[in-house]
Amino acid sequence: MVLDCAIIGGGPAGLTAGLYTTRGGLENVTMFEKGMPGGQIMNSSEIENYPGVTGEISGMDLMIPWPQQCQKFGLKHEMADITRVSKNGDIFTIHKEDGSTTDAHSVILGTGSHPRRAGFTGEDEFFGRGVSTCATCDGFFYKGKEVAVIGGGDTALEETLHLAKICAKVYLVHRRDTFRAAPNTIERIKRTENIELVLNSVPDEVYGDNMGVTGLRVKNNNGELRDIEIPGVFTFVGNDVNNQTLIQEDGSFLCDMNKAGEVIVDISMSTSVAGLYATGDMRIAAPKQVVSAAGDGAVAALQVISYVDEKLNA
Ligand code: FAD
Ligand code: NAP
Repeated sequence: MVLDCAIIGGGPAGLTAGLYTTRGGLENVTMFEKGMPGGQIMNSSEIENYPGVTGEISGMDLMIPWPQQCQKFGLKHEMADITRVSKNGDIFTIHKEDGSTTDAHSVILGTGSHPRRAGFTGEDEFFGRGVSTCATCDGFFYKGKEVAVIGGGDTALEETLHLAKICAKVYLVHRRDTFRAAPNTIERIKRTENIELVLNSVPDEVYGDNMGVTGLRVKNNNGELRDIEIPGVFTFVGNDVNNQTLIQEDGSFLCDMNKAGEVIVDISMSTSVAGLYATGDMRIAAPKQVVSAAGDGAVAALQVISYVDEKLNA
């Protein structure tokens, strides 16, 4: 059987594409997700900018009902790590890590992005042993202790606020003296007593012993070094898009990409390849928001319904 549509990735973009394709009448739609559906917002301790959702709500609370809603309209979910999407003639082939394949008339990509490494000494060595990119997952290990956060964007500041509720103190280390986060978030940071701003500074080295991290050395713009004795360092220095599924056997990309590895789309989320759509964080100029990823999924799904209809009933 050839699927009407294969959706790769089960974050806000992929799940919304699943809702709109199935509710819009497509019968054979499968969403391939390698982990638990919901996407990276599942790691967020608080989301306060999803329209209509008020009160303190975590990313997981927000996302739990999404797969159930899609399944009601017939979306199939296959847990699989997709290694490659290829196209032969009019048909796409979805290649899975276990070696099996599935064919589809159309594909909606929504594989999102992943946390970038900051690149300081000891970061890789202590990753998972004191260095983390997820405060919701690992913050509790540092209850009542002091930790450091690296970064000056929305993620770093929001996760600093979350950690400040659990930890005795949070050192927020940022390479400039201004933040690129929402003004409201910056205000909350400044009002929180157990957050110390370590500005114009970059991490030089994280060090420790076989039990884990014992300290972070930071270097300021004047070259002065400072040691901060802490067992935990959280890095939030941006994201890189997940575009591996587009890499073909000869190393080329299936569709046009920009230099940052983001998929080039038009306003209907169409790529340079007919029947292939890219949505959410992985596309060019993505606002990197849950609401915009969901919007992209809906836009792509409506395109797919017309594309498949024209293709099968021409
Ligand atoms: P993702 O959410 O990244 O989902 C992609 C999915 O694809 C994942 O589930 C992944 O497992 C799957 N996948 C990837 N590769 C493969 C593969 N090869 N095979 C199968 N499956 C695959 N946005 C807001 O609007 N408000 C916030 O408050 C907010 N807070 C945030 C806090 C944190 C800590 C983080 C990290 C992000 C936050 N964001 C927030 C941003 C928001 O989470 C993203 O913009 C949004 O999740 C992007 O959705 P997406 O569907 O494009 O991708
Ligand atoms: P981001 O906005 O790219 O910020 C990354 C931060 O890390 C920047 O402050 C950057 O410094 C710093 N940085 C980058 N590389 C570094 C390095 N090697 N060493 C030290 N510091 C480094 O990333 P993000 O905060 O993860 O946000 C990603 C996107 O998701 C954004 O569009 C954001 O708005 C969105 N998001 C939104 C919300 C929300 O709406 N509430 C929440 C989370 C994320 P400079 O500032 O000097 O460049």
